[in-house]
Amino acid sequence: MLKDEDRIFTNLYGMHDRSLKGARARGHWDGTAGMIRQGRDWIVEQMKASGLRGRGGAGFPTGLKWSFMPKESDGRPAYLVVNADESEPGTCKDREIMRHDPHTLIEGCLIASFAMNAHACFIYIRGEYIREREVLQAAIDEAYEDGLIGRNACGSGWDFDLYLTHGAGAYICGEETALLESLEGKKGMPRMKPPFPAMAGVYGCPTTVNNVESIAVVPTILRRGPEWFASFGRANNTGTKIYAISGHVNTPCVVEDEMSLSFEELIETHCGGIRGGWGNLKAVIPGGSSVPCVRGENIRDAVMDFDGLKECGSSLGTAAVIVMDQSTDIIKAIWRLSKFYKHESCGQCTPCREGTGWMMRVMDRLVRGEAEVEEIDMLFDVSKQVEGHTICALGDAAAWPIQGLIRNFRDEIEDRIKAQKSGRVSAVAAE
Ligand code: SF4
Repeated sequence: MLKDEDRIFTNLYGMHDRSLKGARARGHWDGTAGMIRQGRDWIVEQMKASGLRGRGGAGFPTGLKWSFMPKESDGRPAYLVVNADESEPGTCKDREIMRHDPHTLIEGCLIASFAMNAHACFIYIRGEYIREREVLQAAIDEAYEDGLIGRNACGSGWDFDLYLTHGAGAYICGEETALLESLEGKKGMPRMKPPFPAMAGVYGCPTTVNNVESIAVVPTILRRGPEWFASFGRANNTGTKIYAISGHVNTPCVVEDEMSLSFEELIETHCGGIRGGWGNLKAVIPGGSSVPCVRGENIRDAVMDFDGLKECGSSLGTAAVIVMDQSTDIIKAIWRLSKFYKHESCGQCTPCREGTGWMMRVMDRLVRGEAEVEEIDMLFDVSKQVEGHTICALGDAAAWPIQGLIRNFRDEIEDRIKAQKSGRVSAVAAE
């Protein structure tokens, strides 16, 4: 378990002063100008050495991503864009950073922008995060007033501006290129890649898009050293991580701990165990709603990191862990996710626009058992035709929960169909 002195986010629960004074007392904004003076290459190398992988879901190495930005400007400015659109069902970790520890993010924005030769950074926050936007803006204003950002930020000689942009509440704007479109004032529709944002991002200029947590951990990694960060977790999965555990545990929570804990350790240490005991655990969605579910008996010993959850047939994603006990109608739970993805599809490409609706309608009938057993394979097949055949990952996000359901709970789906045919109403889901 992570010791208190090793926590990066020391005010995750809002128990202390979140203002600049409080942040300084907890060690933030300490020696920032000195880190900037070490130079761009030093910062990127430190990030690579820390092994930090993006905390927004895909897990791409952060230092490597930064190194894709042009070393010399061709006349176009470079930008850092922070993805604070946290809209994945179950995911609520960046919110705690922004409303309780906003200076970790602001300091990270300055350092990361400098490392990528960007004099400006945009934070794109989701439409529903109104209070979070207010807190973050107040913290940005404080940082300007104190000379920490703006002209000659922190006395480092680097000019830096930070803009907070409020989205309008569309899930798709969390996809990086849709976010850039929205930032430019257009409809949030994903772009085809290439060109990748590092070549042509916001306003056609080199841009890196990073998640809030990925940027907020940067100053502490540089202050304490990459070896310190890499000492947590296992190779290729290093560092501390904020987990957000919801559902049928005794005490749902958002907590920072080491990577590579076992699922059981995470739940027993922080969540007071599974509601009704381990025997009552039915399924877990370990990384936000878009990743496949895992059967309860297969996840207890799972290692909570990128590689560990891949071995379980799922993914760490955003580390938003949704726990479901035996009282859950798992078919209906996945149907609800299908409905969400159908609603949030931007409609730009056919497999997603048509496929998400088609899958949701079949799921709708499976909930009631009003289907033929052969349709289960047909649904799986259609989900495979959506997966990997769309402009952005929303198509995959709609397909994976259904594939996880069929792989893990096919028996339950078949039982319900048979029950419906034989009139065994008790086995059929309630409306
Ligand atoms: Fe839009 Fe869906 Fe295509 Fe993504 S996959 S671009 S959300 S239609």
